[in-house]
Amino acid sequence: MTTASAARLASYERRYQELAGQLARIGYIASGSVALRSNRCGKDNCACHGDPPRLHGPYWHFTAKVDGKTVNKRLSDREAHLYEEWIANDRKVRDLLAEMRALAAQAAPLILAQEPSTAGEIDGPDRKRCSPESARRPSRRPS
Ligand SMILES: [Zn+2]
Repeated sequence: MTTASAARLASYERRYQELAGQLARIGYIASGSVALRSNRCGKDNCACHGDPPRLHGPYWHFTAKVDGKTVNKRLSDREAHLYEEWIANDRKVRDLLAEMRALAAQAAPLILAQEPSTAGEIDGPDRKRCSPESARRPSRRPS
């Protein structure tokens, strides 16, 4: 690997770790959406069916898909605020993942082009073994 490639890979890895750190610090996430909605009720003689109609609300509504079904529930101001935060976190997670995936795709050819001997100390005679656990075990066994 050339010095330029090594420097490029190192900068990808730094950025990747930075993003992974941000990902680890994100709070709760939620899928779905929160919106203010006004509704009509079921009573025919209610003002919400009048002319002009005086609708109920507006109320906060949370809508999400759960097991393929659309779930809708009314929220208090506090609940709506929390859900908005969790939904924003969810978007941030997806943005971070997309950026990490793009970075990983840029790093991949550099990593794949590395000579096995430059890939670190772990790669030794036991390199072909699949499990790092089995590769380490013999050194722990008393002889
Ligand atoms: Zn009504």
